[in-house]
Parts: sequence; C-alpha cells; structure tokens
Amino acid sequence: MKASSPFRIVVVGGGIAGLAAAIALRAPNRRITVLEQSRLNSEIGALISLQPNATKIVYETFGLRKELDGARGMVDEGFRVYSTDGKLVNEVPLTTAEYGASRIVWHRRDLHDALKKAALATDRDGEAVEIRVSSRVVNCDPFSGIVDLESGERIEGDVIIGADGIHSVLRKYVVDSDVTPLPTGHSAYRLMVRVSIFSSAMLTRQIPSDTLEREEPDFCRKINPRSPFTSMMVAHDCRLIMGPGRQGEVFGIVALVPDERMNEDPNGKQSWVSEGSLAKMLDTFSEFPDWVTDIFKHSRDLGLWQLRDIDPLRTWYRGRVLLIGDAAHAMLPTQGQGASQAIEDAEALRAFFEEQTDSPLLEDISSIFENIFQSRHDRAGLIQGYSRQAAKPGTAAKGGKTVTMKPDEFMAFNCKYPGAKEWLRRQKAAKA
Ligand SMILES: Cc1cc2nc3c(=O)[nH]c(=O)nc-3n(C[C@H](O)[C@H](O)[C@H](O)COP(=O)(O)OP(=O)(O)OC[C@H]3O[C@@H](n4cnc5c(N)ncnc54)[C@H](O)[C@@H]3O)c2cc1C
Repeated sequence: MKASSPFRIVVVGGGIAGLAAAIALRAPNRRITVLEQSRLNSEIGALISLQPNATKIVYETFGLRKELDGARGMVDEGFRVYSTDGKLVNEVPLTTAEYGASRIVWHRRDLHDALKKAALATDRDGEAVEIRVSSRVVNCDPFSGIVDLESGERIEGDVIIGADGIHSVLRKYVVDSDVTPLPTGHSAYRLMVRVSIFSSAMLTRQIPSDTLEREEPDFCRKINPRSPFTSMMVAHDCRLIMGPGRQGEVFGIVALVPDERMNEDPNGKQSWVSEGSLAKMLDTFSEFPDWVTDIFKHSRDLGLWQLRDIDPLRTWYRGRVLLIGDAAHAMLPTQGQGASQAIEDAEALRAFFEEQTDSPLLEDISSIFENIFQSRHDRAGLIQGYSRQAAKPGTAAKGGKTVTMKPDEFMAFNCKYPGAKEWLRRQKAAKA
C-alpha cells in the first residue's frame, strides 16, 4: 500500500505564537518547519505572564509540564495597587481555584526556550519540528502555499501559518492591503533588576554587586520584590507595573507613559529591542518619589517601545495561509493577554486539524480555517478592544467597539475558556 503523502506545515515566525503552533500541530505523518528571520538567541529580557486560559492549554492540552517545570515560572497571586507614598491601597487576589489554573509569570527567554525544547523534542508525538533560523520570508503565494526567503530559496507547504508578529509580512497576502499597526498614544519602558545576592546567581558564583535588596532597602520595605504579586503605582498619567520573576531572582518593571509625555524621540525607531535613555526616563517619572525612581538605575537593560495594536482584521486566512498571534490580532499589553491569545490560536489549530493525517485538499483547509476563524476572531477582537480601552486616556480617540464588561466579568470571559471547539459550539448554540 502506498504511504499517504505527509502533511507539510510551514510556520513563519518562531516567537511564542509560532513555536506554540508547531508544538500543537505535531502528529504522525506531519512535517513541520518553522522559518525564523533571527538567529533565535536574543529573546528580550522581560517578564511575560500566561493567564489561566493559556496555562491550562500549555500544561494540560499540550502536556508541557516537563519542559515548563525547568523554566522557573512564578505563580502570580494577584494585583496590588500602591500609592506613591508606598501604602497598599487595593489588593485583587487571583485564585487558581476560581479559574482552574494559575496566572504564571515567566522570563520571556525561559518560556521561549521551553517551547523550543518541546518543538525539538524527539519523545513527543510525530517528528521533531525543524526550526530554520536566519530564514526571513519576503514573499508568499497563498494559493500555491509557497513562501520565498530573502536568500531566494522557495519553500512549499500544504498550510502556511503566519506567526510573524505585529509587523507581519504575510498579513498583506491575506487581507489584500497593507495594515499599519496603529500608535495607541502610549509608550513603555521595560527594565529588569536583580533582587538579591541570595539567588541562583550566587550558586554559580556570579554574585551581582548591584541588587535591589542591598541597594534599595527603602523600596523593598514598602514593596517586597519577592512577593508573588503584580504591583501597580499610578501618578497622573504614568503607571508602573512591576513584579518578580525567576522565583524572586529578578524584578521586572514596565513603565507606561502617554506619548505626549515622552522625553524620547517619539518618531525614533521604537520596537521591543530599542534602547531608552535613563536620564530621559527619570525626567518623565519626576512626579514619582525617589524611593521608586531610584530602582530604575539598577537595570542593565532599558528597553523602550511605542505601543501599537491593530484593528480586528476582516479575515485571518486566504488560500493556504492562516494568520495567528500578533500577526492576526496584535493588542495592547494592559490585560497581559497577547501571548495567551497566541496560545489559544495554537490550541485551535490542534483541535480543528486533529483528524488531518495526510496532505489536505484546499477545500478541506478552507473549511478548517473557517472554523478556526469563527471560533477565534470575535473573542480575540473583544480582548483587543478591552485592552485598548484599559489604556485610556491615551487611547480615548481611537475607534473600535466599546466593551461594557466589568473587570471581573472580563476576567471570567478570558480565563474560563473551554477550548476552541467548545467555544464555537457555545457560540453557535447562543445564536440558534
Ligand atoms: C510590554 C509588553 C508586555 C507584554 N506582556 C505580556 C504578558 O504579560 N502576557 C501576554 O500574554 N502577552 C504579553 N505581551 C504580548 C506578547 O508578547 C505578544 O502578544 C506575543 O508574544 C505574541 O507573539 P507572536 O509570536 O505573535 O509575535 P512575536 O513575539 O513578535 O514573534 C514573531 C516572530 O516572527 C519573526 N518574524 C517576523 N517577521 C518574519 C519574517 N518575515 N520571516 C521570518 N520570521 C519573521 C520574528 O523575528 C519573531 O521571532 C506583551 C507585549 C508587550 C509589548
């Protein structure tokens, strides 16, 4: 009997969305290739959280416990809001029991490495994923399933997954026009500070001299940098969102400022990896007390970027190409759902392609893509909208539907996600 042709899947982009999709799609008789433009060794030094909806998927549906257990994630037990004189003014606990899973904070590099390990593992379903670095896709024919690399090489897949981020190259082949990510009126600095000499760094004898507990006792007395909470502080229109990572070894800070308060060049090149100036940041945060701003100077890496998102797209697929992650629904980080939505996309791919063991026909692909789109588009669009609303006033002038859910309703909407197939079934039942 002739062996059936393998199902060839090409994933463009090796970020969280692309790697999660590759892991999710692993199955016998499938050949999965990830094309990543970078060398994949410079994931930035920032913390990222996976919300309960995504935690459930990575642990239970994808079975990544082995890989993630080594990645030093920290369960986040809730939000704490502080006044600028260091008083705790509000605490909103996040209980695992309520959502059946925890919010877990990771160092991006650790999470990315764990996903890479799972994609490459030889002891999981199907063949190990092939990850090709320094492979920038510059062109795509959505109906033949061919992508062209910058090097001139052509690669063909039955299905092409566009996981190439907010500045996606594949998006224009899907929606047939250029979609420019919109400035949302906010910019953000990101910093990472070491907390203590009593950390794993000590075990490796790389004792850092510049640590929060040693140098900034005043801050640590008011806000314990090891407490597993996300802390927030607001003064006028600037906010700090802070919390521990790597089991309390590091403390991550995201500092949001409206663009008009920016003391950096707002038209300069700002992305995940561009550098900010400490002097300018301190000037912008001059309304915060010294005990807070003093911690900024201990960061070895000050990133700056202008926050952008996109409006919901009219479609996510065309021919053999489907967009996922930020390429499909880039959103503001106010609800910490960007990576979690990318993981929900990956789960949808797994669920709707479950039966497909060999090379699919275009008509089968279209009907599967339509199911993925139907199950995911409105949900991700609502989270995009809510994330934008939560960044007001900087985003007050932007369009998009107003989401009227209260914060606790929105948390339940996000976190009690039952998976793409069940979500679609409920949506259809509600409309019937
Ligand atoms: C400040 C900030 C904080 C955030 N915090 C959180 C959080 O706490 N929780 C959360 O869930 N989300 C958070 N997010 C959002 C989250 O980081 C993203 O939504 C998520 O990582 C989506 O990943 P992605 O893989 O779609 O895109 P990306 O991470 O951008 O990955 C895209 C990949 O594609 C590659 N690529 C691009 N173009 C090409 C090409 N032409 N050819 C080949 N490769 C290409 C890139 O090199 C990159 O590796 C945050 C975002 C920001 C800005």
